[in-house]
Amino acid sequence: MTAPRIDADTIRRLPKAVLHDHLDGGLRPATLVELAETVGHTLPTTDPQALADWYYEAANSGDLVRYIATFEHTLAVMQSREGLLRTAEEYVLDLAEDGVVYGEVRYAPELMVNGGLTLPEVVETVQEGLAAGMAKAAAAGTPVRVGTLLCGMRMFDRTREIADLAVAFRDGGVVGFDIAGAEDGFPPADHLAAFEHLRGESVPFTIHAGEAHGLPSIHQALQVCGAQRIGHGVRITEDIVDGKLGRLAGWVRDRRIALEMCPTSNLQTGAAISIAEHPITALRDLGFRVTLNTDNRLVSGTTMTREMSLLVEEADWGVEDLRTVTVNAIKSAFIPFDERNALIRDVVLPGYEAAR
Ligand SMILES: [Zn+2]
Repeated sequence: MTAPRIDADTIRRLPKAVLHDHLDGGLRPATLVELAETVGHTLPTTDPQALADWYYEAANSGDLVRYIATFEHTLAVMQSREGLLRTAEEYVLDLAEDGVVYGEVRYAPELMVNGGLTLPEVVETVQEGLAAGMAKAAAAGTPVRVGTLLCGMRMFDRTREIADLAVAFRDGGVVGFDIAGAEDGFPPADHLAAFEHLRGESVPFTIHAGEAHGLPSIHQALQVCGAQRIGHGVRITEDIVDGKLGRLAGWVRDRRIALEMCPTSNLQTGAAISIAEHPITALRDLGFRVTLNTDNRLVSGTTMTREMSLLVEEADWGVEDLRTVTVNAIKSAFIPFDERNALIRDVVLPGYEAAR
């Protein structure tokens, strides 16, 4: 007997965890319209719903480079203290609304200095906004903990500097580091100095790999740079033939390296063909530590509730699978072990128990 399919409203109330979500990819359309007006930035349209649709269409081009180009507009309103405070605070409130209890937000400070803020000022301001959001969410009875990952841009040469910033702010809410931007043509090992510095300082990091580029990118990220998690990693399937794991795939599964998988985003950039055939399901079945993520909520027109609902409807996922990816995400979060255990024991497991 198969269990009845879990409905979207129940899914929304389930505790969730997201490890891979970009601050500049998740603005509210109405906020983007308002902030753009205050800074004199021209958007494709000033109607919030039409703007959300524009994003969704532009992001559906099947090309990572074009997908990334849509960030021009969100970044334009994230150059001031006001813009950063508001987007960071709303970011947290939107996660809380979506049932997220633990999130890691990531962004590239070097893309937010055009209005005169220094790199440390950008980080301080975002942390201030996140803290305000966390206080409001807790007061509303929907507490959410948010840690920050600072991204260096892989096509530029400031990653070593951003790594330093992550080290400097590790006691101020920054929990790790990442490199973002176009993967093809910009291999992780180009940024070895940043990763060696972070390893020397014992700051954890993840790397976007195996999305636009295949196994060599994942191999470099793990075995040359020393990443503790992989952003996307969908192309690890190229090292699995008829269910048999090659050396690299075996390393990923056996070392319990979390794959930060983002189904909708992968469809949009052409890294996956359909939700039904997205590698997250096959990798789950093979025992990989898969996690489910949104990547860019505005750009991809998604939420954690939507990503979960899509897998339930199109890939036959059940509530147990949703619990597994949530526990997986918190197990591989960059916050301390005792805090991860407490979140799983006190929040996630009781929440799923209540949904049965
Ligand atoms: Zn990403």
